[in-house]
Amino acid sequence: MPVVLARATHGRARTGSVPAVRCPSCGGLEDKVVDSRSSDDGTSIRRRRQCEHCAARFTTFERIEESLPMVVKRDGRREPFDRRKVDEGVRSACKGRPVDEEQISALLASVEDRLQVHGGEVESAQVGALALEELRKLDGVAAVRFASVYKSFSDPEDFEREIQLLAESDDDA
Ligand SMILES: [Zn+2]
Repeated sequence: MPVVLARATHGRARTGSVPAVRCPSCGGLEDKVVDSRSSDDGTSIRRRRQCEHCAARFTTFERIEESLPMVVKRDGRREPFDRRKVDEGVRSACKGRPVDEEQISALLASVEDRLQVHGGEVESAQVGALALEELRKLDGVAAVRFASVYKSFSDPEDFEREIQLLAESDDDA
């Protein structure tokens, strides 16, 4: 199994969704992330990728120090982004729903990528909103559950607005 060591560039300098990594089999630059998890100490992300050209799978390890923003909590305290919190929230919302492991991993990778592009500091509610936006694309019921359980949406107005958005998207269907 080929392993590629990639270094995630600093968020502010980045424009794409994921850092470009050359496929070790064919040299192609397009791939999709099929699995993504952080190391126990939270300083790196291991990503399983699949080449869009030759379908070869390979693994990258990306350092995430400096690249993810600090999260500003409601009480004003700051803490490093904790992927596990989002992961747990998304997983509990998806329980029993037709959302698979690959989709959850891709969702988390997407949220992290957007946070890296953001850089600096984000409010905890923004992190929740990003995850919710991605979850809404996967499953409406899971999105409502997530909105109701995620701490950042403990404000009833936020929750009502979310229900409203879901109702509007149902009308379109
Ligand atoms: Zn390839």
